[in-house]
Amino acid sequence: MNPPDSAVGRSLQAFNTLAVPSVAERYWRVSTTAELKEALRLARDSGMEAMILGGGSNVVLPERFEGLVIHMAIRGFKVVAEERDHVWLEAGAGEVWQDLVEYSLDHDFFGLENLSLIPGTVGAAPIQNIGAYGVELDSVFAGLKAVERESLKDVVFDRDACEFSYRDSVFKNRLKDTVVITSVTFKLNRKPQLNLSYAALREALADMDPATITPGRVSETVCRIRRSKLPDPSHIPNAGSFFKNPVVSLEQFKKLKNEYSDIVSYPVDDKRIKLAAAWLLDKAGWRGHSEGGVGMHVNQALVLVNPGHCSGERILQYAAKIQDDIQARFGITLEREPASY
Ligand code: FAD
Ligand code: NAP
Repeated sequence: MNPPDSAVGRSLQAFNTLAVPSVAERYWRVSTTAELKEALRLARDSGMEAMILGGGSNVVLPERFEGLVIHMAIRGFKVVAEERDHVWLEAGAGEVWQDLVEYSLDHDFFGLENLSLIPGTVGAAPIQNIGAYGVELDSVFAGLKAVERESLKDVVFDRDACEFSYRDSVFKNRLKDTVVITSVTFKLNRKPQLNLSYAALREALADMDPATITPGRVSETVCRIRRSKLPDPSHIPNAGSFFKNPVVSLEQFKKLKNEYSDIVSYPVDDKRIKLAAAWLLDKAGWRGHSEGGVGMHVNQALVLVNPGHCSGERILQYAAKIQDDIQARFGITLEREPASY
């Protein structure tokens, strides 16, 4: 069977925030779980590779994908359970993340406000346990539904099964590219429980009477900070942070601190320290650096920008050069955040 809106040689440039020129051999936009299974069956039975695409905001695409790109468009919000203090809200994997944040605030369901304005879809959010401004997805996650790519069976994952950690989950590791998430259920609060642990957020709200700070105000403030700091992909193509903040042992941190007294760090626990990758890149001179249309943003060293609409291959080469340099200077392995195909 042919994908209904197939297109042999469909451009994906508008579907990835790095604006990488990329062509899919076959393309299918799926709106239901049944359609998703048909698409997966087609790929499996004809020996084609399949790639799942959400909002394309955390991916480096190849110039040509020889296989079937399945674009997630499964929509819908549904309250699936309620009790006095909590509500369980299920959202389709193809919903835009920010639409979920706005829907929840409109209905007085709280807990997503710090995660405002993160690009992408609901279905991709568990993949790297999205996080920002002191909150990670796992703190509001109740469960997800998915389809196994090989068997086409329906499967469910609770929080433990997702093995969430810092910008990571089982879906980036043991189960990488083996399941397709079709919906995610969130356990949200009926009464606001503000998380103002992140200094930049607290400072931005410092002039307000604490009694008047609402989740809506927190969301607006996060949006304002993000708009002022981060390049908008529709103007300057980017995929957000290109590298993860490295986590090092206390021992390694002490050595670095001896050499670089101004190194920016945050304790993870009593044995591990998280380093600000942006500080390492800035220190090494990568902030504002560019080379043939690819570079690191001048205000945010962690954000790789692609104003030249260069290929994915070119971007990965540039990133590898940076990784080698950081390794040589600091003895630290910078891990890439976006997936590549
Ligand atoms: P895509 O890029 O389409 O896909 C990413 C990966 O997930 C791919 O491997 C894809 O195959 C897989 N995938 C997608 N959907 C599914 C599915 N339904 N089932 C199985 N696999 C799937 N991230 C943060 O954590 N915090 C931030 O604050 C943040 N800020 C950002 C700011 C900017 C300006 C940008 C451009 C990105 C930012 N990101 C941030 C990264 C990105 O927005 C998130 O990782 C987001 O969750 C990616 O969603 P997506 O739908 O675009 O995924
Ligand atoms: P920032 O506020 O300039 O801070 C730089 C780094 O320091 C961040 O990466 C953050 O780590 C860390 N940090 C700051 N305060 C912290 C604290 N109190 N405890 C622990 N760690 C702390 O960062 P920014 O670039 O403007 O981003 C703001 C938030 O949005 C961050 O949470 C960041 O992760 C998120 N964001 C993510 C992406 C992405 O693509 N992944 C893109 C843009 C923004 P954490 O990253 O661990 O929070």
